[in-house]
Amino acid sequence: MLRDTFKHKGKRLQLAAIVEGKGVKDKKVLEAIKTIPRHLFMDSSFEDHAYQDKAFPIAADQTISQPYTVAYQTELLEIKKGDSVLEIGTGSGYQTAVLCELGAKVYSIERQQELFKKTKIFLSKLGYRPKFLSFGDGYKGLPQYAPFDKIIVTAGAPFVPKALLAQLKVGGRLVIPVGENVQVMTLYVRTSEKGFDKKEFGDFRFVPLLEDKN
Ligand code: SAH
Repeated sequence: MLRDTFKHKGKRLQLAAIVEGKGVKDKKVLEAIKTIPRHLFMDSSFEDHAYQDKAFPIAADQTISQPYTVAYQTELLEIKKGDSVLEIGTGSGYQTAVLCELGAKVYSIERQQELFKKTKIFLSKLGYRPKFLSFGDGYKGLPQYAPFDKIIVTAGAPFVPKALLAQLKVGGRLVIPVGENVQVMTLYVRTSEKGFDKKEFGDFRFVPLLEDKN
């Protein structure tokens, strides 16, 4: 069932070249794209499209992010081996796998139970070992594992959740797409206990970061 072939591998090299052509320079990030079998993270009906630089539907009305977007966000995080990284929005687990490939200790939260269960099993089948996959509300972060070196939000946030800023180490980086219909990729660097530097990058489109209704 989990079949990866030379043909898939060849398509991944092309995909990495496309992502590089769009401006991503981080070699380790590009290497992760070349390595991770993205087609296995998608429903079989979309498998043929797995190595296009596009977002696609996954279960529970959610999407697997566009590879360029994954690469762009990951590059902004400046992951170093051993960094503890909190991801909001596990989804298909593709971004989780990228972070694992970079040697991060990954903690990830997903609010859709169906996706949480499916992805947890799937990632372990593929051999990825995130530190902790959590079913819950990303707006709250994971206080029991905080502070984090890096935090990445993979859904469109209407505002920046205070809990996430609070759970960042001094010197740490939070990458979050902020906005309602269109999101501005935003980087916060924590400069001191109370200080944050904010930088804005381009426009992106994500599924919404939903507040927990349970
Ligand atoms: N990183 C994923 C992207 C999935 S899309 C991937 O690579 O496939 C965004 C995900 O965020 C969806 O799975 C959605 O269910 C989840 N999400 C939305 N609101 C959330 C919240 N408040 N807490 C945690 N996850 C949330």
